[in-house]
Amino acid sequence: MNKHVTNFNEIILPLSREIDREIAGDIEKESVFVSPQIDRIIVSEDLKSAKLIARDGANMEEVADKAKRFLDVMVKQVSGFEIKVFVDIKRKDTGPYQIGVNDGLVERGWMHDYGKGQVAYSGPVLKLAQLINEKAGELYKKAYNATDGHFPAMIDADTLHKCGYFDSHPNAVTFVGNVVEDFDAIEEFRRANSCSEGALLPQPEHIHIDGMCLNPAACFPCYPTLKGKTYLTGECFTWMGRVFRYESRNINGLDRLYEFNVRELVFVGTEEYVRECRAKALPIVEEMATFFDIDCQVQTATDPFFATVSAAKKFWQAAQEVKNEIKIPALGNDGSTKMLACGSINLHGNFFGKRFEFYCANGEPAQTGCVGLGIERWVLAAFTQHGFEPHRWPEAVRNRIFS
Ligand code: AMP
Ligand code: ZN
Repeated sequence: MNKHVTNFNEIILPLSREIDREIAGDIEKESVFVSPQIDRIIVSEDLKSAKLIARDGANMEEVADKAKRFLDVMVKQVSGFEIKVFVDIKRKDTGPYQIGVNDGLVERGWMHDYGKGQVAYSGPVLKLAQLINEKAGELYKKAYNATDGHFPAMIDADTLHKCGYFDSHPNAVTFVGNVVEDFDAIEEFRRANSCSEGALLPQPEHIHIDGMCLNPAACFPCYPTLKGKTYLTGECFTWMGRVFRYESRNINGLDRLYEFNVRELVFVGTEEYVRECRAKALPIVEEMATFFDIDCQVQTATDPFFATVSAAKKFWQAAQEVKNEIKIPALGNDGSTKMLACGSINLHGNFFGKRFEFYCANGEPAQTGCVGLGIERWVLAAFTQHGFEPHRWPEAVRNRIFS
């Protein structure tokens, strides 16, 4: 790749091949993780080059080199796998999609955006979030007789490591830091803050990170609890998980939060049991979409892995068809329609069974799979598709959330 300088803050970097829109989207999204000196990388319309927009004072030589290495691994991704659609539900509401839902919810006092990927909500937003969670829970109970559970929001690094998370999504991890157990360091921190205007953080050398993280995928904390278990057929667990993903500058209203909630369902057991469980998830999504009266599809998908592992892992996921995604149309900030990933249905093979030591009756590691519904994204999608006026909502939902 050669680089052409256009002006002080921008460089055009030719790509080694013409890419497709999917890879272009991944490049733009992940570009926030390339360098603190890079504002964005934007792929050109013809998909043959990328524009690097650097921050003022950036060392252009250095950022161009980093961006070039990032682009080199991204263009190696294989895409263009045929996308299979398993579910395609059309809503009855004939009204237009609502633009500016995030702002509209804030204006109505139903949501508070703290500005760093966290939101508070109340009124119809809270009631809708609770109803989505409750409805999914009910359907899981009926179809799977799933056992209810509760799991912590923090997870230790060793468990995350066992789950392969540092390998697949190292950019999204959040480590919890504590002030070192040192009288002088604690006192220095206390004194500095007792009369300061804003918060003064401890010196980096006074913070220790001893391996606690914020949980980045709802199902992970379940697996250590299964150690030593043996399954004749299988078992299902369900709960509402609090999930944290460091999304850097990509945070955006309810679409992309740092902290969000996922209604999780995990199935564990023999290959046959897990396969049957996965098949039962499709009619449940249909029932959910019909109940909330939303346009919705379930289709094959891949995870947004970190750049350097993306090519191989995405290829494997697509080829094995181990990830299906629930896609619900919504509107972007510019009013264009985009398919919002509102949930996923995943097969893990015996990956977790092997690593966390739980088995089938024949002594083989058990298989697992999971379904995760992103509660806040369902809320966003439903408000996008029905707007703020109660009369457009299906009666059963309207009576619950606007009462
Ligand atoms: P995943 O385990 O990556 O398939 O995520 C499960 C679900 O969580 C996704 O289908 C989304 O609905 C939701 N989700 C993932 N990332 C975010 C985010 N940053 N903000 C809000 N919801 C999210
Ligand atoms: Zn999961």
